[in-house]
Amino acid sequence: VRFSFLERLGIQVAAISEKADGDCGEGVAGEAFCAELGVDYAAVIRGRQVHGDHVAAVGEGERGLCLWNTDGLVTDVPGLPLAVTVADCVPVYVFDTCRRVAGVVHAGREGTRQGIAAQAVRLMAERFSCRAGDIHAVIGPSAGPCCYEVTDVMAGEFRTLGLPTEGRRLDLWESNAGQLVKAGVPRDQIEVTGICTICGDRFFSYRRGNEGKRNLALICL
Ligand SMILES: [Zn+2]
Repeated sequence: VRFSFLERLGIQVAAISEKADGDCGEGVAGEAFCAELGVDYAAVIRGRQVHGDHVAAVGEGERGLCLWNTDGLVTDVPGLPLAVTVADCVPVYVFDTCRRVAGVVHAGREGTRQGIAAQAVRLMAERFSCRAGDIHAVIGPSAGPCCYEVTDVMAGEFRTLGLPTEGRRLDLWESNAGQLVKAGVPRDQIEVTGICTICGDRFFSYRRGNEGKRNLALICL
């Protein structure tokens, strides 16, 4: 699935693999998916995701590497692909059309609670002088508010932070969109794809039993 919302603004690739592309967590399926998009798989920079809020600014020096303790990546280097892997967690894509800086973050329950999407916006401002008002974002396919039920305690934590919940269900989409808006990204520059990985059958879903299988969320300037 490609996100024309960002690609039509002049980014080379903003996409996520689906089940039909195979398990893109590692190896051949990921390579084939990248090849299809004209992206060099060997160049892809990834994070060794830990459900934290660390976002790294990367460049040529990190080409092809997997960075420790990193759940989000941003770069200003054209042609340098960045990726996170997800299966229900939210992939958030960001693109500053002015400074031409792009990034992708892995925002699961923990990352969202810690505000990783806003952290990416802050880092883009700090390292690349981006203005939040120039950033466009896509909230990709992931666990939707229709299905994502957690424990009372977890839902309570979200409520305490002012993040949207309904009973024990969390709204990770609106949580991330809201955090971006709070960080200064205009609401009309955020697209929520609205595709739930749990009740839909198009993507790998941890909750639906595809443990270990991953969708690859890819962005490339
Ligand atoms: Zn659903």
